[in-house]
Amino acid sequence: MIDGPLIVGAGPVGLSAALLARARGLPAHVLERLPETTPKPGSRAIFLHRQTIQTLATASPVLADHVLREGLVWPGRRTYWAGRRVHHRRYEPVPPRLAPFVSLPQPRAEELLREAAVRAGVIFSWGARADEVTLLDTSVLVRAADGRQWRSPFVVAADGAGSVVRRRLGIPMDGDGGGDAFVVVDVADDPARPLPAERVFHYRHPEAGGRNVLIVPFAGGHRVDLQCRDRDDPAALAADPCDWLRPLLPSGHACEVTWSSHYLFRQAVAQTFTRGRVLLAGEAAHLYAPFGARGLNSGIADAAAAVDAIVNAGLGPDAALGALADYDRVRRAAAERNRAAAGKALAHLTAAGPHRQAAQRAAALAARVLPRAGTWLDSKPFGPRDAGIPGSLY
Ligand SMILES: Cc1cc2nc3c(=O)[nH]c(=O)nc-3n(C[C@H](O)[C@H](O)[C@H](O)COP(=O)(O)OP(=O)(O)OC[C@H]3O[C@@H](n4cnc5c(N)ncnc54)[C@H](O)[C@@H]3O)c2cc1C
Repeated sequence: MIDGPLIVGAGPVGLSAALLARARGLPAHVLERLPETTPKPGSRAIFLHRQTIQTLATASPVLADHVLREGLVWPGRRTYWAGRRVHHRRYEPVPPRLAPFVSLPQPRAEELLREAAVRAGVIFSWGARADEVTLLDTSVLVRAADGRQWRSPFVVAADGAGSVVRRRLGIPMDGDGGGDAFVVVDVADDPARPLPAERVFHYRHPEAGGRNVLIVPFAGGHRVDLQCRDRDDPAALAADPCDWLRPLLPSGHACEVTWSSHYLFRQAVAQTFTRGRVLLAGEAAHLYAPFGARGLNSGIADAAAAVDAIVNAGLGPDAALGALADYDRVRRAAAERNRAAAGKALAHLTAAGPHRQAAQRAAALAARVLPRAGTWLDSKPFGPRDAGIPGSLY
């Protein structure tokens, strides 16, 4: 029997939950299906909002300090329509502690989280793939595929989009199964021919066959998202990216791809975030289209709320399980709003229907004389900043 929460999954959400639990004085034990040394690839969730960094700072000011020092704050943002600039905004430089966000590749964020978790005394079981979950009267039993088992008063399921814990508990996801395809590539900087260190969005990039392209800088490289067309083969574009990528880079820029992948914009929310003494968090509970960066930022908000719920419930056999019901209500409502906000971004990106296309074309024309039209084009691919979640951006 473990004295504190058992956290399934050492992704960013599970690591955050473990760290936040330790900060509240709870023992925390993490199961991870991968071996300890398996590297995690790709920039993936690259945008950490200040709210998220502040949440992590409550558990580890040292971690937050590392994130702020290593993360990049883009000095500006630009948007182009068919190669013509329609918006450009520069930010005033701010000291790291006041950064509104940082751009930090997810594997590095996970390394920093893991180091902080080890410092805080989190226990890890690596190579432990949770395979069976049994709800008992006052605890939860988790069995790994290799036969090891753990019993704990509460389980936080942070085992990602394919969550075994969620599936074993029979919790369905509401939402779409397919979606629009994107190819994502990390390309190393070429110091001789630098790309701007700004976030750049292209509508109908002329060098990308009129596809939309997002370019996001991070320390040492840029992440490029290419929005596929219906007839594109995303796997082929991801497998051999330099053909389409080179024309998007400054002339002569080395095409050194450090990671490439493809993904579908999926939008789905679990029908409940709790069952018995199990709390779902992060992608185990919800999937959003990534533009707007709601995946990881909301997952860490879930982690904080899950730990609050466990602390409020109390670890004993008489735990006040109403705190878990509150977690379900509050974080599922937040997830619905996050999904709606990400859905607005998605609807804009896919320009579904003649009205959206006409509005975008009209804004691009108007932006020649009306800066607000350019600002509109610049912000819309990321959805509304405020999704209407009480007390939280995510
Ligand atoms: C190509 C790509 C691009 C993305 N881009 C963005 C982006 O730009 N912005 C954004 O916000 N998000 C983005 N995301 C999503 C982002 O990566 C996720 O939101 C984030 O990783 C969710 O964290 P998590 O901890 O919930 O799940 P995960 O990161 O999936 O972590 C789950 C962990 O659980 C482990 N695990 C799984 N099953 C078990 C099991 N049975 N037992 C034990 N351990 C298990 C896994 O090995 C993993 O370590 C992207 C994702 C991908 C794949």
